[in-house]
Amino acid sequence: MKSNTSPHRDFAALLTDAGLAVTTNRLRVLEVLDGSLSPLSAGDIHRTLARSSSVNRVTVYRILERLVRHGILERLSSGGRAFHYGLAADTDHPPHPHFYCTRCGQMDCLSPASLPMDTTWLRRTFPGRIDKIEIRIDGICKNCLRKMKLET
Ligand SMILES: [Zn+2]
Ligand SMILES: [Zn+2]
Repeated sequence: MKSNTSPHRDFAALLTDAGLAVTTNRLRVLEVLDGSLSPLSAGDIHRTLARSSSVNRVTVYRILERLVRHGILERLSSGGRAFHYGLAADTDHPPHPHFYCTRCGQMDCLSPASLPMDTTWLRRTFPGRIDKIEIRIDGICKNCLRKMKLET
C-alpha cells in the first residue's frame, strides 16, 4: 500500500498483526497521531478528523480505547485532565518521558536520552509482569512561562 520510502509506518499491517480489522477511521486515527509531534487528547484527534469527514466523537473514543487495549497506542495520564494518546513504543519508537504543562495542558515528547532510564534490573527482579512504564514530568512550558512574564 505505501512505498518503503515513506516515513510513515504500515498501519494496515500493524492493525492486521494485532488481529484488528483495517478500517478507514482506525487508519486515520493512527495517521493523525503519526503526523503529530506530541501526544494528542481525544478531543484534538476528533477535531482534526472532523475537518475532513463526519466522524463522531464516540467513534473516536472507541477506536482509541481499542487501539490502547491492543498495545498499538499508549494512553498517557495528564493529572486529572483528559488523557493524551500517542503511538506505543516499539523498535522504531523507543520509550521516552513526556512533559505536561499544567497551565495550558500541552503534552510533549522528550527524547529518550533526556532522562536515561535503565529498567533491566527492575524487569529482572520484579516478581510480576511489567507492561508499561510511564514517566511524566509536570511543569510550565516555555510558551506559558513567557506569557506569565508578560503578565507581571
Ligand atoms: Zn503551557
Ligand atoms: Zn511521546
